Amino acid sequence: MEPWDAPARLLPVALQPVHGEVLGSYLHRLAAANRMSSARLGQYLSPHSNPLFTRRTDALRRWTPTALPRLATMTGVPIDVLQRSLPAFARLAARANGTGEPIHAHYDLYVVCRLCMLRHGIHEPVLAHMAPALRLCRRHTIWLDGACHPHVGHLDGLIKAQRQHFGLVRRFPDTIDMATKEAEKLIRSWLITNYQPVLQKRWQKRLVQLPREEPRYSDVARQRHDEWERIVTYPEFVSLLGLIADPRWRAHRIPTGRHVSIEDHRDAISVIFAEAERRLSVPTLRVMPERRTFHNDPLFRWTNPRGRVHFPCRDEPHTVIRSPSQAG
Ligand SMILES: [Zn+2]
Repeated sequence: MEPWDAPARLLPVALQPVHGEVLGSYLHRLAAANRMSSARLGQYLSPHSNPLFTRRTDALRRWTPTALPRLATMTGVPIDVLQRSLPAFARLAARANGTGEPIHAHYDLYVVCRLCMLRHGIHEPVLAHMAPALRLCRRHTIWLDGACHPHVGHLDGLIKAQRQHFGLVRRFPDTIDMATKEAEKLIRSWLITNYQPVLQKRWQKRLVQLPREEPRYSDVARQRHDEWERIVTYPEFVSLLGLIADPRWRAHRIPTGRHVSIEDHRDAISVIFAEAERRLSVPTLRVMPERRTFHNDPLFRWTNPRGRVHFPCRDEPHTVIRSPSQAG
């Protein structure tokens, strides 16, 4: 009899999955705890399990529907708990029920805080889908980079920013995902193009305080080379996210369907920049460094996502935007 045809039995060591855990990560932990290969464990679940599945494997396309009930029997974890904890099964259920959107499929994979896991007696790295607001472990003030887990509690503004981040996720559920992508892109553009020297100084200051750690989990998650950028810009990212996720502010953006002249839109742009200046405590967002033009500033480009603004030929746009009292 093939392993997948044999009646499923409770494993000697039954582990609970961690919330959001990648299926491959859970099965690898389960196999190791029961001293068997992960390929063998997969065979007990489904004839279609790929023997080469890794800790990152999270797709169940070819696994039979018996995999879930068999896993429940083998671990003693009820089916509904497995479905809630493991996005791989939650996605299958969502597809089967026609409830649409794959759950958390777009979140990046991160290694869960190792110190939190130790409290639960888990010594191996646990790979999970984690929302951006959970990248910082509040209990241990560790940033959950894909490869390292640096302490960041001493960097100014990070802990407070995370509290605000949770609030924004609750307040703007419909726009938060889109706004997160936009705010990440915007902040990264500022960082790379050096359009905002005041922010650049803040980020550099955090960067020198950031402990340098050797990659700890380089073979578990795909290594991200821009993670330090996320850490040092996190407070400003959250400040801007509050503006970008808010439908009232989004409504000020330039409509995508038609061209407008800068004259028609200068009040809206002015109001968005003033609000961003307030939130970031940088009164000079509209002052461009040398050889930078206002209409190329990443925040301006956010207000004008399809490039619909027409500029008058000779006027420098920022002289149009800044009223005489501000220009002084
Ligand atoms: Zn922790």
